[in-house]
Amino acid sequence: MPRFVLDTHTHTIASGHAYSTISEMIAMAQQKGLKLLAITEHGPNLEGSVSEIYFRNFKVIPRQYGDLELFMGIEADIMDAQGNLCISDNVQQKMDYIVASLHPIVTAPMSLEENTSAYIGAMQNPYVCTLGHIDDGKYEIDYEAVVKEAKKTHTLIELNSSSLHPLASRKNSRENLKTVLALCEREGVPIVIDSDAHICYDIANFVRAEALIDEVHFPEELIVNTSVEKFKKEIEKKLLYFGVVKR
Ligand SMILES: [Zn+2]
Ligand SMILES: [Zn+2]
Repeated sequence: MPRFVLDTHTHTIASGHAYSTISEMIAMAQQKGLKLLAITEHGPNLEGSVSEIYFRNFKVIPRQYGDLELFMGIEADIMDAQGNLCISDNVQQKMDYIVASLHPIVTAPMSLEENTSAYIGAMQNPYVCTLGHIDDGKYEIDYEAVVKEAKKTHTLIELNSSSLHPLASRKNSRENLKTVLALCEREGVPIVIDSDAHICYDIANFVRAEALIDEVHFPEELIVNTSVEKFKKEIEKKLLYFGVVKR
């Protein structure tokens, strides 16, 4: 069994700049021994991605393939300094999983205060499970404030393995991730490692993320990827905190 059994941030051809189908993603996740895969397409405001109706029809997609569970979700764009997302509330409620991210081609970087409040606002949303790539230094933020709010709201912090790719477009990710990991360790905030795969072959490609957590000796108990149960328990904590029941 692999060290980590889930990958919760991946894209298919539906995102417009990714290259595998759902079937190919599932087959590869099974081949790699994963127990849970989340497919999180980009939101409608990101050029080339699907419109909202795509996210409304997930009911037709089976969620279990042998011992692999599938989550259908979105990597939603945070649209403003209040943390509003790019997709309607009633669609958010029905999805299995939401990563909330800032992308320069949708939401231009704002001031440090505004970028920070964008993430904090997004964490106030009970359906936002995880913040995506907060390591991107194009958005200057108060990391301590964000990690403390993640603790309060039970929002997972992402260690995005793609951010550590030498050709990644994000800025200063490695250093920023070290800051984030140190804060998460200090505050006891759980993290989720994910691939942000844009092709099936990259599913569960955590090589760079694993090297980093080993380098900084990040505590294994704060990594939710070791079991599906552990991951789901964290997601449920947030819903409980906000008193939300999901159908
Ligand atoms: Zn992203
Ligand atoms: Zn992504």
